[in-house]
Amino acid sequence: MTQPRSPWQEIATTAWPRLKKDLHSDVAIVGGGISGIATLYYLLTLTDKQVVLVERGTIGCGATGNNAGFAWAHIERPVSELVEEFGFEPVKEAFLELDHGWDEYIKIHQLIGLENNVEPLGNAGLGFGFTDKATLESSLQDGAIFRKMGRKKWEFYISEEIEVEGEGIHRVPREVILEKLQTIDSSYIGLLYDSVERARTNTYLFSHRLLEYLKRRFPDRFEIYEQTEITHIEKNTLSHPSGTIAAEALIICTNGYSDKATPRAAYAAACSTPLPNDYSAAFITHKDPSVPYWHVTNCNSLTIFAGPEYIDPTLDLNEWDKTFALITQFAQRTYRLHPSFQYQWYGIMGYTQTGLRWVGQDRHNPHIWYNLGCNGIGIVHAVASGERIARLLNGETLKPSLFSQFQS
Ligand SMILES: Cc1cc2nc3c(=O)[nH]c(=O)nc-3n(C[C@H](O)[C@H](O)[C@H](O)COP(=O)(O)OP(=O)(O)OC[C@H]3O[C@@H](n4cnc5c(N)ncnc54)[C@H](O)[C@@H]3O)c2cc1C
Repeated sequence: MTQPRSPWQEIATTAWPRLKKDLHSDVAIVGGGISGIATLYYLLTLTDKQVVLVERGTIGCGATGNNAGFAWAHIERPVSELVEEFGFEPVKEAFLELDHGWDEYIKIHQLIGLENNVEPLGNAGLGFGFTDKATLESSLQDGAIFRKMGRKKWEFYISEEIEVEGEGIHRVPREVILEKLQTIDSSYIGLLYDSVERARTNTYLFSHRLLEYLKRRFPDRFEIYEQTEITHIEKNTLSHPSGTIAAEALIICTNGYSDKATPRAAYAAACSTPLPNDYSAAFITHKDPSVPYWHVTNCNSLTIFAGPEYIDPTLDLNEWDKTFALITQFAQRTYRLHPSFQYQWYGIMGYTQTGLRWVGQDRHNPHIWYNLGCNGIGIVHAVASGERIARLLNGETLKPSLFSQFQS
């Protein structure tokens, strides 16, 4: 068994103290991943509140330091399904909120002098590859909805012999699809190309650099404690092993919250020697459910294979060896690549039952707020949601969003 190790965490970081006393603050944030740190950033910049953030391990030790690094303003559920459940306008608003989150993510990078941490992905081979007609048709439906929203365009490249109808279709010989996906696996019959911006990014580095910036700019407005686990929440008070933290608002940014609220899944990723072009491609093989969904992100000498996912959050390390064999098989089948892996790692994702993030106030305890539930894609969401919560805590009235409709 090779010990899992992610490339993102290879930076020198500041250590923060352990909390050994009782504290009072205006706001307390639980969880020092990108969600907690983005929320802290907005609380400091948009409000005059005093904030404390507590982390049970070290800053960025969770999904923030162990993800696939693919930043994208998207929700991992069919858009047609969301529109059917929530209606067209709320879904459109949610995507616009995520687009804004993307802009904010870039803006903060510029503010903290970390522009090169978001590496744009080229157009070669971009997209989702499909092996079956039904999944392709469902994506064509989603593409039509995005066109109606005017938000972005999905273009489809579909093999000439496949009979489907829809907008934005380019009929091409099968070889063109394989070429665009850069794969040697001839089972792909079509792909969608999403024109929305996307990038590879190190959220661990982002989180640490943002904290350093905040420390310089707001030295007296916040405190951070590591190695401090919150073990209990009662009204407006958090308990930790050496005391309590009382605050008017307690913001839970723990990725998952409880098994009931957010079933969790582990998800494996690994990286290797680079592929020829910078791109991101998803390989969806629904015909055979035993074959997992894969996402490949290739940029600047680092190729990341993300997948498969597990429902059990306690991924057994022996299981990891089996997973890694699958990653290797996938690389061989897809690229005829016999990769040399410098890193192999996995992390835990908090999946909510609806696949939508929880952003807002608890229904029963008004002191508790949530910014959690990464659901596979959570980087841009963490930023957008941090801003929303800070605005609400600042007394602004905002329209309810798709992400505030959870049942706590
Ligand atoms: C393998 C993998 C691949 C992914 N790939 C992508 C991707 O390509 N694109 C994308 O957008 N998203 C991706 N994600 C999701 C993305 O990484 C997450 O959405 C994001 O990092 C979540 O940040 P967070 O701050 O909410 O959670 P975390 O980073 O998990 O932070 C939560 C923190 O809370 C702390 N904590 C928990 N309980 C307590 C407690 N009781 N007391 C104190 N502290 C506590 C934890 O120690 C942890 O540090 C991926 C995730 C994984 C695991």
